[in-house]
Amino acid sequence: MLNIEIDPHTISITWTLLCTALVLLMQPGFTCLESGLVRSKNNINVALKNVADFCISGVCFWLVGYGLMYGASASGFFGTNQFALDSYDNPSILAYFLFQMMFCGTAATILSGAVAERMRFSGYIICSFLTATALFPIVGHWIWHGKHFEQAPMGWLIELGFIDFAGATVVHSVGGWIALIALVVVGPRLGRFTREGEPKEMYCQNLPLSALGTFLLFIGWFGFNGGSIHTPSTELARVFSNTALSACAGGVSALLLSWNLHSMQGIRYVLNGLLAGLVAISASADLVNLPSAIVIGAISGCISVLLGDLLEKFKIDDVVSAVPVHLGGGIWGTVAVALFVPLEKLKLETHSEQLIVQLIGVAACAIWVCSIGLVFLWLVNKVHPLRVSAQTETIGLNFGEHGMKDELIDLMEQFDNIAKNENTPQHLNVEHGSNNASLCMTYNYLLDHTSRHFKAREEELLRLASLDPLTGIANRRVYENVLSETLEKSKKSSLDFCLLVIDVDNFKQYNDHYGHQLGDYCLQNVCQALSSKLTIKNGLLARIGGEEFAIILPNTSQKAAQSLAEKIRKAVSALKIPHCAGQGEFVTVSIGGARWSHTNEVNLQTLFDDADMALFQAKSNGRNQVRFSGQAETS
Ligand code: GH3
Ligand code: MG
Ligand code: MG
Repeated sequence: MLNIEIDPHTISITWTLLCTALVLLMQPGFTCLESGLVRSKNNINVALKNVADFCISGVCFWLVGYGLMYGASASGFFGTNQFALDSYDNPSILAYFLFQMMFCGTAATILSGAVAERMRFSGYIICSFLTATALFPIVGHWIWHGKHFEQAPMGWLIELGFIDFAGATVVHSVGGWIALIALVVVGPRLGRFTREGEPKEMYCQNLPLSALGTFLLFIGWFGFNGGSIHTPSTELARVFSNTALSACAGGVSALLLSWNLHSMQGIRYVLNGLLAGLVAISASADLVNLPSAIVIGAISGCISVLLGDLLEKFKIDDVVSAVPVHLGGGIWGTVAVALFVPLEKLKLETHSEQLIVQLIGVAACAIWVCSIGLVFLWLVNKVHPLRVSAQTETIGLNFGEHGMKDELIDLMEQFDNIAKNENTPQHLNVEHGSNNASLCMTYNYLLDHTSRHFKAREEELLRLASLDPLTGIANRRVYENVLSETLEKSKKSSLDFCLLVIDVDNFKQYNDHYGHQLGDYCLQNVCQALSSKLTIKNGLLARIGGEEFAIILPNTSQKAAQSLAEKIRKAVSALKIPHCAGQGEFVTVSIGGARWSHTNEVNLQTLFDDADMALFQAKSNGRNQVRFSGQAETS
């Protein structure tokens, strides 16, 4: 059998590089998780932030961060050399640098989801820069310097006996603290809380994508924790199984607790609980047994739910629950080291001594990140506001920050144009095959439907507006329009037309005697008699006042009009509606007429006055008669 001996050094480097690639898998994990948890109008922005922060933190960590973290220590507080490594440097250092660079990228990206949907891209880049150059490397120096390469002096916390196996504090608490500070500085999203401070649910665009992201993170975590055992050994089995079981326990406990507190809305809580389990076990995955890992994960899952609710109470709007998961899980995991790791594996004599050191580490990390983060972000915010404008926030950061149009923006622009257009609303363009196609078609269908409906209503209103409600014939408005039109047409075609004004005789008396209701009835009957005799083509009968009617007779001679008026008068008398004026008296009408002649054009007012004067003469002459303007007086 071929027996190949591989140098343990090579195995160690290979393993670290392999785990580096696995930790890199956490970046797509974060990208999917966060993009799925935001609204679609911001998903490109979140994805871009994830890619950008990784690139920026990579370069910054190479240039400054690694040196501060692993360079020769200044009294255990920060490194002083190994800035801007060269590829000809020791391969072990290069491999370790790459592995730590992935950790740095992880710490930097925790913030992106928390402040999603309202933080400016430029402001976010500044935060990534800060995390990669100062926050993460310094805490990393305190806790990890000297652990791997056995350099002295060691970081002051590791010297004290602080334990953080794979970065529950160094990576996750650092990311969690800076996220919390940024959340306080930037404030909640518009509409996230009501005026009364009640939280309002904001829709996630794609929870299945977030679930996929969570699983990618889960896989990546094997590199995160596994790679922290720098030389592969059988110990890996414990690290891997602790990691997996803590994650599962976190998911289960978060599911059960959220089920209890928030009924069945749970997928977000399960994802958070699982991740919180992973974060917490990162501190002690190499030291605890499986039952302890499960308890650590389960408690971390509960913390993620409760801390999330607590943040809401303080109106802190953490879009992806980065603080509950990374800070809550990170602190808990760090403290849990002192509670669950067997005494013989601890660095200090007793559990309580270890607990004190773990708490000192938690506090030191909090003070460092919060003080630097708060001062830095507050100053940056003064000079260059970290928050986008309300308009950008409303329209979405995809478009507002990066000019990336999507179908929704396109739709909004179309609606905007429609709203600006004063004419009848237009159809939306339907791009077949696009996501909006069916929405546009539904809108167009509804538009047609409502237009038809409104048109019918409009016609009905127009009809009602032109009718006299008592008699059902044309009202004064129509009469005036038709009279003007008739005048114009007659002028153009040099034709004559006539106007009759009809008034019920002594109607006040009738009305007073029989009452208003019978008066109405009488007017309706008179009106029927008038219209029954209106045989002239295009003639219009209208009620122009209380008991006054008018008839417009286009293209009609005076003779024909007079004859028609006479027929009308007789028709009303023939109704034999008894009048109270005396025995054998019936309701009658008087009619005044006037002719408009194209040879002697007069205006409408004159024409009407002439007809009215003729009516007056008919009244004065004893009523129940027809008079025409210009007709000789008869007694
Ligand atoms: P004349 O013969 O000179 O026309 O006298 P008259 O009484 O008919 O004329 P006057 O203008 O004095 O009275 C008109 C009356 O018509 C007054 C009012 O009581 C009545 N009237 C007006 N509109 C209506 C209506 O809609 N319904 C009813 N029932 N009566 C109306
Ligand atoms: Mg009258
Ligand atoms: Mg009258």
